[in-house]
Amino acid sequence: LEIYNPVVNRRRFLATLGAAAAFPGRLAGAPRRDGPLRINPARLQSQIERLSEFGRPAGGTFADGVSRIAYSDADLGARAYVTSLMRGAGLTPRIDPAGNIFASASGQATSGGRGSERPILFGSHIDSVPSGGNFDGDLGSLAAIEVVRTLNAAGVRTRHPLEVVIWAEEEGAAYGRSLSGSRAFAGQFPADELALVVNGISKAEGIRRIGGDPDRLEQARRSSGSFHAYLELHIEQGGTLEKAGLPIGVVEGIVSIHRHDVTVRGFANHAGTTPMNERQDALIAASQLILAIREIVTREPGRQVGTVGKLEVSPNATNVVPGVVKHTIDLRDLDAAKLSRIGDDIRACAREIAAATHTDIEVVRVTQHDAALAAPAMQEAIGRAADALGLRSTRMPSGAGHDAQMAARLCPMGMIFVPSVGGISHSPRELTAWPDCARGADVLLETILLVDKMADPA
Ligand SMILES: [Zn+2]
Repeated sequence: LEIYNPVVNRRRFLATLGAAAAFPGRLAGAPRRDGPLRINPARLQSQIERLSEFGRPAGGTFADGVSRIAYSDADLGARAYVTSLMRGAGLTPRIDPAGNIFASASGQATSGGRGSERPILFGSHIDSVPSGGNFDGDLGSLAAIEVVRTLNAAGVRTRHPLEVVIWAEEEGAAYGRSLSGSRAFAGQFPADELALVVNGISKAEGIRRIGGDPDRLEQARRSSGSFHAYLELHIEQGGTLEKAGLPIGVVEGIVSIHRHDVTVRGFANHAGTTPMNERQDALIAASQLILAIREIVTREPGRQVGTVGKLEVSPNATNVVPGVVKHTIDLRDLDAAKLSRIGDDIRACAREIAAATHTDIEVVRVTQHDAALAAPAMQEAIGRAADALGLRSTRMPSGAGHDAQMAARLCPMGMIFVPSVGGISHSPRELTAWPDCARGADVLLETILLVDKMADPA
């Protein structure tokens, strides 16, 4: 472990300029190494295990997962623990007005007179959903700190300053709004959100509780181009990598989401006296539409997904022909144009079903989230880093949202996925094998070194 002292390091740097030039990225005096640097897997594991104690059910074990809702005592304890790890790694943590923890490696920028370079930012989140797992966010957060420790111990000096971030309230379990900290960072935090109240505590108070300053929230916003690049290691939370037997996923982007509300209007009538051929059954029409949505989504090749997950039947009585059905449609893909096309096809199909069932069907698009694409150069760097480590990888979209999608608004973004056992997440049974955790952290480290050498990783 090397704690950076700018004065000592600068002196040593000047004394070893010649050797440093011969081995770029490595300080003379550091052990010569063959092949890529690797993080300490046992240390990473023990810190993930220690972090899991914050928010663990009383009397439980690691296998019982965590409930570490943002702004809770468990969150506060975990943040204090992670902050202490940052200090131990030679990082200087500070809390921004949104409650995000940013920690820069102070020695990195000052030594060698490279202070003008923009930082490489990397990290994740440590809040969880209720009854969540020990890896979602935690792995990427602790791996980020482990990477800094490993670089320091090896005497590696990057050209760009390194900065670790732990985003506040990623899951949105506290106030129903996810990506809170990273949205503030990207200027996507509506001021009225601070007034949300849950259990008598406003979101503003929650942010204050973790050391943020809601009165200055605007100042959490960073400008485009503030960072050289953003990287996040995360568990896949799906089963693609495990099924393919691949240790590393190179994320192509975080999918676009189109949500629709559907209202089917028929005519509520007596279940005993209305003949079958005279019914205007809204639920029969909705059922046909729901099956048709699956057909429309799957008839063209690709990884697009469509879900009807919420259904309201009215009057919802055993002896009444359903008069009105409302349901949602959630469509996701990296390609928003494809989602628009699917939406059009669903509307056309709804018109046919309405005519055939003597109902009226209204399909309204209610929200549309843009995809956040990973920069091609970042994807390339992650793929090359995996290759250098002898790890096979595949390109894949992220169907789940991540803070990385907000960071992508400011700088080139890259995301690394590692396998989730059984594709399970947001559950105490969430699991990523320890060797896979270490592989992901190694890829993160190697990618940082590659991105550090790039003029503009866009
Ligand atoms: Zn997460």
